[in-house]
Order: sequence, then C-alpha cells, then structure tokens
Amino acid sequence: MKSFSVPNPAVKRLSLYLRRLEQLAEEGTKTVSSRQLAESLRLSDAQVRKDLTYFGQFGRPGVGYEVRPLVEELRRILGTDRVRSVVLIGVGDLGRALLRYRGFPNRGFEIVAAFDIAQDKIGRDVGAVRIRHLDELGDALVEYDLDMAIMAVPPHAAQEVADRLCEAGIGGILNFAPTTLNTPRKVAVFSVDLAASMEQLSFQVHTRK
Ligand code: ATP
Repeated sequence: MKSFSVPNPAVKRLSLYLRRLEQLAEEGTKTVSSRQLAESLRLSDAQVRKDLTYFGQFGRPGVGYEVRPLVEELRRILGTDRVRSVVLIGVGDLGRALLRYRGFPNRGFEIVAAFDIAQDKIGRDVGAVRIRHLDELGDALVEYDLDMAIMAVPPHAAQEVADRLCEAGIGGILNFAPTTLNTPRKVAVFSVDLAASMEQLSFQVHTRK
C-alpha cells in the first residue's frame, strides 16, 4: 500500500467512510454509489472517489461500491481487521473513563494493560485490567506484543512517559495530555486536546453570533 503518499485528511476520512459503510452493511445494503456515500457524509462524490483511489481500485461504473468487501478492505488498510491490543498510561479520572469506554472494543481496540506510578493505585483493578507500575512497561509490551499506547497523564509527566514508551519500542501514541511531545519520527503521535477543542468550538459559536 502506498500510504506514505496519501494526504492525512484522506486517511482521516477513511474512518468516516468505514463507519458509514458499517451502518449500511448492518442495514443489509449490498452496494452504494460514491454519490450516496458522499451525501450522507456531506462530502462531494469526487472527493470520495479520489480518497478511495489512493488505496486501490474499488467500485464498478454503474454499480458503485460493494459494501461488505469495502468494509473489510478499509479495516485492513486501517489495521483494525483484527483486535489491536493497547496499553494505557495514567489511570486518573480520564484514564479510568477510557478503560471503561465501550467504543474501543466495538471498533477493534482493547486496553489490555494499564500503568501508573501512584502507589495507592498499583494492584487495583479497573474492570478486567490490573494497574501495574510504570517500571513494568517494557515487560508488558513484550508480553502482549503491542505497539500502541494511550497516555492520560498530567502535562508535566507527558514527555517523560513518552520517552519511556519510545525506549520500550512503542509504534504510536494517542496523547491526551495538553502538551506537544518530542518523539522520534518513526513513532506516530496523535494528540487529543479536549480544552483546545472546546476553545475552537467557543470560537465558532462566538463568531456565528
Ligand atoms: P486522580 O485524582 O485519581 O489521580 P487525576 O485525573 O486528577 O486523577 P492527574 O493528575 O490528571 O490525575 O494524573 C492522571 C494519572 O496519571 C494519575 O493516576 C497519576 O498518578 C498518573 N501519573 C502522573 N505522573 C505519572 C507518570 N510519570 N507515569 C505514569 N503515571 C503518572
């Protein structure tokens, strides 16, 4: 797959396409045209066709896309055609909520191990996951053969924790700390800054008045 030459917005839209296609599959729809797919997502059909062309030759003229095969193909491209084991670092309020979040297993992600440094949390269970000390991180990555981490630590600890994850050989980090991480290029980092998103929302609401 030539994913290195695919623009990020197109990759982001793959998740939108997949979600919509999964709904259609559940409803029993066999084929869908680029126009139908585009309309339901408020995109143009040219955009949908162009995005999907980055990843292969899908769809047939006059027929459209076959829903189920395309769902399977998009899952394969996104690497979610199998359950991906994920590690969580930082089991505070946000970390606990993420551990209980049902949206992850539904979409093929399972938090299999959780780490913290607070002594009163080590050894406790959140759902089926026991909280372990961060010093055991390296062992766990090997034990579970996992390459993705979620960080829900406070901003002052984020870089140090990211360094430890990178040293342990992590492939990607979903970072909930409102700070920019300095990581090697080979490590993929996505940051979710909830307060910054609220600021953006506030700006939009404010400027529409
Ligand atoms: P709580 O009050 O339960 O600790 P919180 O959400 O207020 O929750 P935060 O200060 O945001 O806590 O920290 C989130 C979690 O990250 C906490 O469980 C904290 O112990 C943990 N944490 C802080 N520093 C580190 C670190 N260096 N490595 C791993 N976990 C850390």
